[in-house]
Amino acid sequence: MDSTNNTGPKWGMALDLERCIGCHACSVACKVENSVSLGHFRTKVYYYDYAATNPYNQQPTMKRAFLPTLCMQCEDAPCLDACPNGAIERGADGIVRIIESECDRSRDCIKACPYGALHIDPISQIADKCDFCSHRLAADMEPACVEVCPADVFAFGDLNDPSSRISAFHEKHRKQLSVLKPEEHTRPLVQYRGLGGVVPRAMEHKIPKGHSHDPHSYEIDTWAELKARFAPSAAPAKALKPAKKS
Ligand code: SF4
Ligand code: SF4
Repeated sequence: MDSTNNTGPKWGMALDLERCIGCHACSVACKVENSVSLGHFRTKVYYYDYAATNPYNQQPTMKRAFLPTLCMQCEDAPCLDACPNGAIERGADGIVRIIESECDRSRDCIKACPYGALHIDPISQIADKCDFCSHRLAADMEPACVEVCPADVFAFGDLNDPSSRISAFHEKHRKQLSVLKPEEHTRPLVQYRGLGGVVPRAMEHKIPKGHSHDPHSYEIDTWAELKARFAPSAAPAKALKPAKKS
């Protein structure tokens, strides 16, 4: 469905992955701003370690990529189509929102989302996800993640306003922008610069499809896969001796 809004704002976001330092400030700010329950996420930053070649000496090396994720505000949203109660709607401003009074926590939306963006809040027992901090937008403020990022990763604003930050970012980087999991055909309003470059596409498999973000998945788990390649004969590290008491 075309969600073009000709009378008010249509919100869009682009993340410049060239700038992300993986500090998690966005996900922490999101949790605080939206009281996201322990072990659940509206915004989650993934890490990915991968083998690469040092461009200066052509020797094998390792790199770490950072990928902040949130609800993609899909224009063709599988969550919205999957909800049997009509408890998810897209506003004229492009934001996909939960209608709390209609949610029966059937989890159909979670199973349908290709980006792990939904969870059932254990306290309210209602589906929960990013809505671009709609309460802040209503107060003429930016989403918490946008405001707190120390590396200026987020370009956010009104896609209908040619003078907005997001419109300027699109104008400057249009050819470099892409979306997560394009094969899902969800037409996200959240786009990225650097996918397939500083962040390998192979990293996309870490973003869960059909279930929420895993609170136990710490993102350095690819170290184990890479260890054999870089140190095949390395002896196990010795345990540190406790310091002597003085
Ligand atoms: S706050 Fe900015 S730099 Fe830090 S992880 Fe999030 S997007 Fe990356
Ligand atoms: S990312 Fe998931 S929750 Fe967000 S609009 Fe798309 S399908 Fe729905």
